[in-house]
Amino acid sequence: MQIPFVSFLPMERELEQDLRAAFDRVFKRSWYIEGTEDEAFEKAFAEYCDVKYCVGVGNGLDALMLALKALGVSKGDDVIVPSNTYIATALAVTYVGATPVFVEPDIRTFNINPDLIEAAITDKTKAIMPVHLYGQACDMDPIMEIAKKHGLFVVEDCAQAHGATYKGKKIGTFGDVAGFSFYPGKNLGALGDAGAVVTNCKELADRIRALGNYGSDYKYHHIYKGNNSRLDEMQAAFLAIKLPHLERMNTERRRIAQKYLEEINNPEIILPFVPDYATPVWHIFAIRCRRRAELEKFLNKKGIGTNKHYPIPMHLQDCYKDLAFKEGELPIAEEISATELSIPMYYGMTDVEIQYVIDAINEF
Ligand SMILES: *Cc1c(COP(=O)(O)O)cnc(C)c1O
Repeated sequence: MQIPFVSFLPMERELEQDLRAAFDRVFKRSWYIEGTEDEAFEKAFAEYCDVKYCVGVGNGLDALMLALKALGVSKGDDVIVPSNTYIATALAVTYVGATPVFVEPDIRTFNINPDLIEAAITDKTKAIMPVHLYGQACDMDPIMEIAKKHGLFVVEDCAQAHGATYKGKKIGTFGDVAGFSFYPGKNLGALGDAGAVVTNCKELADRIRALGNYGSDYKYHHIYKGNNSRLDEMQAAFLAIKLPHLERMNTERRRIAQKYLEEINNPEIILPFVPDYATPVWHIFAIRCRRRAELEKFLNKKGIGTNKHYPIPMHLQDCYKDLAFKEGELPIAEEISATELSIPMYYGMTDVEIQYVIDAINEF
């Protein structure tokens, strides 16, 4: 049996007619940037996220970068990010001229450990960026308390967690502002690159919209040295088709995860831990194994696709040589990098496929 790590086919088959109709509609109108499709999707996504404002942007990295820029984070500032995340979180900080300060995760949840944040705060610290990694909410109450106590902004990286909740409340509603990615592989994905920023602050939303549109508040009037990062009409139309199906597709991911959690019982495998406060959307199902390379080979040989999130931690990446980290300095991120394996998780996996993955892992 061949089971890919991820497949969009089941979802695309279901929505093909609607997506083609959306393409035809936009094509007929022949208007591709800043229009009614963008406006309609922003409104729908804000509603879905339980926030007042949504600004469509070009991708998830830009969403985070523009959010930081709008908050005035810049050169000389520090921003706290988890040491275990996709590199975009740290790059957003770098792009505004600030320095990412890595705080280790809780190895059970993979998310930033709130108990370690305060020790990393200095008078240069301006913001904390919690990342709801693999689709599971960070422990937001203590994070918000620390931010309040020290007067820090909170920018949530929601790129992997569309629809996830913390104590029943949607992620993206806790901090000052939140960034989403609609990269095709995310739980809500466009048919290309796209992203969004959500916030309850009108002033911030306006500033982010202007910053992503050449710093312009109205045509040919530039109040900031802005970027070009807008959600185009075609992607907005596709996203509007997919959004009403997101809850159903997240529920299906939860069903798959539940089966994995209940039935994978190999003592060599450490399963992801779900705290009471979190209802994850399982962007990634991350297991850990000391003999990761062997497990990966074993599963791949049986036709099961796997992935690693992420094989090299950010602080040891060539591009961050300037931060001068040595191996061993962030041992938890390094441990996750060395032992984490992501197994198939996508809408449309059949029961037979789910069982095949479970049996293979238990057989290892
Ligand atoms: C995907 C991702 C991003 C960046 O999103 P893009 O749309 O690819 O730019 C940022 N943070 C995290 C945690 C991600 O997984």
